[in-house]
Amino acid sequence: MEFTTDVITQVWEQLQEQARQQGIVLEDLPASEQMSYLYRGLQALGGALTARLWEAKDQALHRGGVVCQQEGCDQAGRPMRRTARRTVQVTTVFGKVKFRRGEYQGRCGHRRRPLDEALGLRPGQVGPYLEGLLAEVGAQVSFERGARWLARWFHVEVSPNTVRRATVAWGKRLAQEEQAQYQASVERSGPPAPGPKRVYGAIDGGFVPVRKGENGAEGWREAKLVAWFQEGRRYGQGKGSQEDAKPRAVAVKVAGTLGAKEAFGKVLWASGEAYGADRAEEVIIVGDGAAWIWDVVTTYFPQAVEILDWSHAVGRLHQVRRAAWREDDPAGWAWVEVVEAALWDGEVEGVVQACEVLAQRGGTGAEEAAKAARYFERHSQRIRYDRFREAGYFIGSGVIESRVKQVVTGRMKVAGAQWTMAGGEAVLKARCAWLHGDSPLRLPLAA
Ligand SMILES: [Zn+2]
Repeated sequence: MEFTTDVITQVWEQLQEQARQQGIVLEDLPASEQMSYLYRGLQALGGALTARLWEAKDQALHRGGVVCQQEGCDQAGRPMRRTARRTVQVTTVFGKVKFRRGEYQGRCGHRRRPLDEALGLRPGQVGPYLEGLLAEVGAQVSFERGARWLARWFHVEVSPNTVRRATVAWGKRLAQEEQAQYQASVERSGPPAPGPKRVYGAIDGGFVPVRKGENGAEGWREAKLVAWFQEGRRYGQGKGSQEDAKPRAVAVKVAGTLGAKEAFGKVLWASGEAYGADRAEEVIIVGDGAAWIWDVVTTYFPQAVEILDWSHAVGRLHQVRRAAWREDDPAGWAWVEVVEAALWDGEVEGVVQACEVLAQRGGTGAEEAAKAARYFERHSQRIRYDRFREAGYFIGSGVIESRVKQVVTGRMKVAGAQWTMAGGEAVLKARCAWLHGDSPLRLPLAA
């Protein structure tokens, strides 16, 4: 944008004049105060221009004729009369903006505020764009910190509660989109579009503080998350280097819910469908031993290759070792080394047997060893690491673990956070969307 010298001169003289009235000589201020003064001046100008713009839009709507749009009204399509031009206020990136706009009524008694409708304005509330900024900030940091950021950066004063409302509004909109995606996929018929070749879904959970007593919650609720991804290679890190050859997770998309297993199932399906997992030539699901994970996977992705995350499987061996041997006993470590090698080679029966032998030997650790034997038996199809490695699959859950950290530790568990189920669910969705680089800036968030 460029302004003519005339305009700049006029604005400059205005700014100087106002400074003079406040006893300030702009040229004499330290540079940072000069910037701050100009910023606030231009912000005030921006607010005034916003009022002009919206009033012009209101006039245009008036000239265009305002008619009743109430469904089923016998006056629908008939002109309404302007009953008032009221001054209202909306908070914007320029601060609070006051402007006048028309209110209309038809003979039928129905009322309209065409400008509010056209622009998604709510008098007394935060306006478009700023609301999106607030939602984006609220997905990143606590609402208190978000409000402080906004005050610092934009000189816009909003309460933490306003940041919360915007973030929750974004999250609810995302939940609606997810629900629509789920419905559409359930109702869809005909051959599906081809999907990616190989898609991974890694599933895990993390506990989030919720208010006691809500929906039978006990103070903590598990956020259940899935990270969808594909494998890619890191390029441009030096030709032929190890890094070049090593496959890594790319195009990672996270989705989740604070809800129960059934709710997670729908999230898994809707997000997987959006990702193309249902149409992929191969879909591979990696998770730990949690029963809810595999229940839901079997329901929604029965065709998936199921993999028990390698580090959890090895962790289970160490659990046995700690129960059966002292920490510094080399026999325990030797046992793990042998059984881990068998696990790596896909010798499932050998692994189960090693645990059973230990269980039959009795003594400390017998119970843990017996449990481990059942665990490896139960997951026997998910620990065929020899086959998985041969097929070139990822067998670790690092991708989802880092996402759980980003979503749960990084936002849902920040100091002082305690969620209602509805609020927590919405912010969880906003946080996931923000991790993908999605932005609410262009959306009117108000329902
Ligand atoms: Zn009407």
